[in-house]
Amino acid sequence: MDSSQPKAIVLTPQTDTQAASSLPRPIGSLVDRYGRVHTSLRVSVTDACNIRCTYCMPEKVSGFLPQDRLLGFDSIARLVHVLVRAGVRKVRLTGGEPLMRPNLSQLVQRLSAIVGLEQLALTTNGMLLSEQIDGLVAAGLTHINLSLDTLREPAFLQISRRDGLDRVLEGIQAAVESPLHVRINALLLRDINLEDCLPLVGYARKLGVVLRFIEFMPLDANRSWSRTQVVTGAEIRELVEAQYGALVPQDRADASQPSRDFHFADGVGGIGLISPVSEPFCSSCNRLRLTADGKFRNCLFGKQEWEVKRLLEPPLGQEDCSDEDLLAVAKACVEQKHASHGISDSDFQPPARAMYQIGG
Ligand code: SAM
Ligand code: SF4
Repeated sequence: MDSSQPKAIVLTPQTDTQAASSLPRPIGSLVDRYGRVHTSLRVSVTDACNIRCTYCMPEKVSGFLPQDRLLGFDSIARLVHVLVRAGVRKVRLTGGEPLMRPNLSQLVQRLSAIVGLEQLALTTNGMLLSEQIDGLVAAGLTHINLSLDTLREPAFLQISRRDGLDRVLEGIQAAVESPLHVRINALLLRDINLEDCLPLVGYARKLGVVLRFIEFMPLDANRSWSRTQVVTGAEIRELVEAQYGALVPQDRADASQPSRDFHFADGVGGIGLISPVSEPFCSSCNRLRLTADGKFRNCLFGKQEWEVKRLLEPPLGQEDCSDEDLLAVAKACVEQKHASHGISDSDFQPPARAMYQIGG
């Protein structure tokens, strides 16, 4: 199987003419000061997680958002509907661990019914996937990214501070057997799991799944990030090529895609390198983010947030907002986006929220 070829699943299988005529009436687009058009939305559905990856969460969490602070499914669906009218075409559900949000497949069902949305994806650690995958597929999920940093139980425990590698591998197997388009994401930390690079590549090749390596970013709750721990995309390419021979770069079909993708010379599978630290891709960023507590963010590293929960879920007696009000907030957020994340600036400060509180 050629793993680089996505199993083509689209939410609205229509002819071009049908699709054009049945798309909801457009209401402007989300373009920032630098001309970047925002067509991709990351929706965090919870900040809770069932493991505690050192590069993301603190060991002890003082508490997760209570149910009443989470944006409700009705609100998320309404917002996505408005944003699709403003040009959003991809939605990725994330967290925290999105499968911890009760009844997630009900949200998937609501979103997959939105005409004009072309891709509905989920990023998960896979721990709860094998029991939820059938419901998610039936509800209309199209793509899934699974995080896997090691195949060694002790390293899994060291990284995630929990047991459960077997459940993650079960989840990956279930995903591969499903009709979903599957990718595996790995994060390497120099002192902990650099040695897992090649075994992970071998595992993904056997499964026929593209494996993408993402560089460690300064978004960990422990504030222990250091450049020396970052294993760069270039280093990974060198390691993989030493074992498998020269990798064949693939053309970027989608310029906003952060991953540099490669085929193996023997045609079996491929890898992707996402290098936000060593090779920032901000100039083509098309992403807008919604936190689990209903705030827009225009960048993982942004310091500012734009509140929408209060508009979507006003206190009793207060008037409902219009779609135009919601769009105005999204536009204000996009318009204020900086040219780049600034990780390498001398005055760089990480954001107050860690990765699990923003949505990765
Ligand atoms: N819990 C789900 C999971 O782990 O796949 C979804 C949320 S998690 C925040 C999404 C992705 O962010 C994971 O692939 C994880 O490896 C990545 N991530 C977390 N902290 C990171 C960091 N400091 N730098 C780079 N990637 C990070
Ligand atoms: Fe949880 Fe994902 Fe963060 Fe790991 S990376 S702690 S699985 S939210």
